[in-house]
Amino acid sequence: MTGLSLQDLRIALIAAAQTVIDSQDMLTKADQAIGDGDHGLGMARGFKAFRDVLEINSYPDVPAMLKAAGQAIMMTSGGASGVIFGTLFMGAAKPVTGTVLDGKGLAAALVSGLEAVRARGKANVGDKTMVDALAPAAGAALVASERTSVFAEVAYSAAAAAEAGLEATKAMVATTGKAKGLGERAIGFIDPGALTLSLFLRSFACAAAG
Ligand code: ADP
Ligand code: MG
Ligand code: MG
Repeated sequence: MTGLSLQDLRIALIAAAQTVIDSQDMLTKADQAIGDGDHGLGMARGFKAFRDVLEINSYPDVPAMLKAAGQAIMMTSGGASGVIFGTLFMGAAKPVTGTVLDGKGLAAALVSGLEAVRARGKANVGDKTMVDALAPAAGAALVASERTSVFAEVAYSAAAAAEAGLEATKAMVATTGKAKGLGERAIGFIDPGALTLSLFLRSFACAAAG
């Protein structure tokens, strides 16, 4: 397997969105610990809209699909994370073309999504946000895509790096967003948005592997 067809990409994105939706309670608890507790509801709402546009509509190519999915989150989710995750998928759409997403395309999409998120939210690595999962995921995907043309390997590399990044957010003090005021009291808790991204990427990789 060297890449996902438009139909396989659609199925994998829907499966990943469903995982986030099914994780609503876990995400709520994560945000109750260091934020205002609305992350589960916001992400469930956003990824339901994301899933629904992919189920209902058909798209001519990969970038159109990613852009529409990102817009669906942006318009429905609310909160900081709605803008951030919407921006991620809209940014991911930019460098890719055509009707097949291969490993190099996935890596380019993640790198571009990261750039868009950073331009929008201004968070750096170490600020205890989803950037702490996304940046290593994009980096790992890039490295993996140079080593292998097996799509699932690239996707699994991204997921594993996101999970390591998620784990690393435990030790971080938040310098942005709702957890900022907590200072050192945020230490020991994972970042909710980093958890959402990790769950999404793991489920996406599993679905892509078939
Ligand atoms: P809110 O903070 O508005 O209540 P959510 O609870 O839905 O929104 O989402 C919080 C998550 O959004 C954080 O855990 C973090 O991962 C992400 N986030 C917040 N601000 C930024 C930012 N500037 N850049 C990247 N991610 C961010
Ligand atoms: Mg919140
Ligand atoms: Mg909020």
